[in-house]
Amino acid sequence: MQQGFRLGEFEIFWLGGGEIELDGGTMFGVVPKVLWEKKFPANADNYVRLVNTAILVKTREGNVLIETGIGNKLTEKQKKIFRVLKEWAIPEALDDLDMTCNDIDHVILTHCDFDHAGGIVSNDGEGRLQLTFPRAVHYIQQLEWEDVLAPNRRSKSAYWPVNLDLLHGCENLKLVDEEFEVVKGIKVMRTGGHTRGHQVVWMVSEGDSAVHMGDLLPSHVYSNPLWITAFDNYPLESIRMKEEIMEKAVKEGMWFIFYHDPFLSACKFDVEGQVIEQREW
Ligand SMILES: [Zn+2]
Repeated sequence: MQQGFRLGEFEIFWLGGGEIELDGGTMFGVVPKVLWEKKFPANADNYVRLVNTAILVKTREGNVLIETGIGNKLTEKQKKIFRVLKEWAIPEALDDLDMTCNDIDHVILTHCDFDHAGGIVSNDGEGRLQLTFPRAVHYIQQLEWEDVLAPNRRSKSAYWPVNLDLLHGCENLKLVDEEFEVVKGIKVMRTGGHTRGHQVVWMVSEGDSAVHMGDLLPSHVYSNPLWITAFDNYPLESIRMKEEIMEKAVKEGMWFIFYHDPFLSACKFDVEGQVIEQREW
């Protein structure tokens, strides 16, 4: 059985939530291609490969899953549009750990875009939709949920009802306001930026610590606070929060854990944003 990454008393595992390709321009916004391409090579038609890696954190107070991957409900047409390279395989990854989806107690969503929330609801193989993690409480920011229910012109294309409708009015949904401690040592905090209700996850255990910044830091390549995606709805807020969070996390020697990084699963940065310690795949 695969060994987890120790963070104090926590044990962390990376679970395959599917791989896609997106246009490099949308991923890097105003950053010139000559700069980003050196760190994140694009293919011939300018697409970049993105993983969607859910993080399982085993704690004494239960199993916490951060993000849910792209799920298994994409149509053939959607698979073409998002160029799915690898299918969602979270149940299989849990099986490798002698676990099932029923063993997940808490699910944290940094936000509700389809590439993060796609695995909340899955197809049972006979065309029926069900909550993938039926016992889990799902933690989403209040503001994020307001936008899910009444999306703007832009966010509408990323909040897919098929991923979220089953949670509506369901006891498995826990809406949180700004900061909330999910289990001892694992806390969410709203940042806004990428979406109005985007949140990050702080993890602290026995002197070790880590931060999962969701799409404010999709991969280690984005360590410059000005490098944000063109998908960010509130770019100045993204930059401000990124700067604040990274400064604190670097000062405290924290690990950064990534969701979309095809190169590294986690790393530490120095104050210049250079990688000083890393965990590869
Ligand atoms: Zn994303």
